[in-house]
Amino acid sequence: MEDIYYSSTRNDKNKVLSSEAILKGISEEGGLFVPNEIPKLNCTIEELIKLDYKETAYAVMSRFFTDFTEDELKNCIEKAYDNKFDTEKIAPLKKAGDAYFLELYHGPTLAFKDMALSILPYLLKTSAKKQGIEDKIVILTATSGDTGKAALEGFAEVEGTEIIVFFPEDGVSAVQKLQMVTQKGKNTHVVGINGNFDDAQSAVKKMFTDTSFIEELKEKGYRFSSANSINIGRLVPQIVYYFYAYSSLCRNKDIKVGEKINLVVPTGNFGNILAAYFAKLMGLPVNKLICASNDNKVLFDFFSTGVYNKNREFMTTISPSMDILISSNLERLIYLICDRNSKKVSELMKELSASGKYEITSNMKDKLQDFRGGYATEGDTKKAIRKMYSENDYLLDTHTAVAYSVYEAYKKETSDNTKTVIASTASPYKFTNAVMTAIDDEYSKYDSFELMEKVSTIMHSDIPESIKDINKREVIHKDTCEKDEMKSIVERFLGI
Ligand SMILES: *Cc1c(COP(=O)(O)O)cnc(C)c1O
Repeated sequence: MEDIYYSSTRNDKNKVLSSEAILKGISEEGGLFVPNEIPKLNCTIEELIKLDYKETAYAVMSRFFTDFTEDELKNCIEKAYDNKFDTEKIAPLKKAGDAYFLELYHGPTLAFKDMALSILPYLLKTSAKKQGIEDKIVILTATSGDTGKAALEGFAEVEGTEIIVFFPEDGVSAVQKLQMVTQKGKNTHVVGINGNFDDAQSAVKKMFTDTSFIEELKEKGYRFSSANSINIGRLVPQIVYYFYAYSSLCRNKDIKVGEKINLVVPTGNFGNILAAYFAKLMGLPVNKLICASNDNKVLFDFFSTGVYNKNREFMTTISPSMDILISSNLERLIYLICDRNSKKVSELMKELSASGKYEITSNMKDKLQDFRGGYATEGDTKKAIRKMYSENDYLLDTHTAVAYSVYEAYKKETSDNTKTVIASTASPYKFTNAVMTAIDDEYSKYDSFELMEKVSTIMHSDIPESIKDINKREVIHKDTCEKDEMKSIVERFLGI
């Protein structure tokens, strides 16, 4: 099989193999790595039906990580998808109402970020070995709430790494915050910033391209990498579960082999839905990719008008992991729809940072037919939780509820009856206040932790061990900073 190369969305000449793309996270000029072709899956759906999650993972990932040996990749997969997930299926599919929910929250941190972040540390270590890198790898991460904990969980005590996480101090749920600040492991660092996710992500991206800072780090034996979905090592593992969902539907005879499905994805940084698009390009029979936003509906506006405009008020919502105005991974889609013209992408991204907006050409817009945008207000989101619970006895978290609400509206508008899979991105246990008060205002008299008990009762399930009594654990990380102090905090952690 020929090697797949990864080139930067902002410079075609910058071409690397997958192990190098994973190590770098982002290219020198700030572009994202995209494979030079999207490979087709090399087995049939009939064959896929016989595979379990790990085997499916190998079938998909081996097409992208072509410079990994079979042993290396299988070893990463074995270590990632083990009993840190609470079900052997890893990503079970549940039918509720008129949709199928792909539950991506059965990992250690109860959000879909575990699907990729449980394997990323192994991919990174293997990549470093392959590239003969002996530097200590510093994972620098901005989080809107879920990536941070999943990255900490994945990298804690991993030899040869330090992990530094920045989260918006006032922009995450009580449980999300506690999950991060109680993290153990001497290589872990967590800082709350006075700012939002976009501020954190912009400052982190700036450090990645700060050449004098990178030189300074190198002298001390450090190099940066990223655990955000800008890293191709995050994106590729996320393609797997869309194939797995499809084969599960076939196995259960819910669809015929080859029948098209819709995929609805609650979206923030555009990573998860881009993975779904890659699955389609690999050959998965997909009708529409429905991109669901909350009140920060930059992407809905983009799909309706072709204009990306982040100049608007940043809204803090009950689906905080989607409170994002700069969706980084959209850059990869832009690159694909302008026929891989890195000059064009560079221009648009320059416009974005200078004026906060850009417009794509009508030619590019025509290539977005696979997508459909939608959004749910706070009221819509709560209504969706209440409706799903009362009609089907199934509890959705706030992010998944955004997707469900958008799907219901889409169905009404289009009468499209294609079978539909909704990416269920977090456990309701992570967002107990918003979820329970959506069902009944009566619950507002309880705090997040009392509400865990209530969720447990109505879901007929035990509170997950990973968050049980989390409010009684020792707070280890107490640092906070302004957004312009992030670099100096990194220097302090690394002793430079
Ligand atoms: C991160 C996250 C999202 C958004 O995913 P993107 O890949 O950033 O679009 C949605 N829901 C939850 C629960 C998340 O943690």
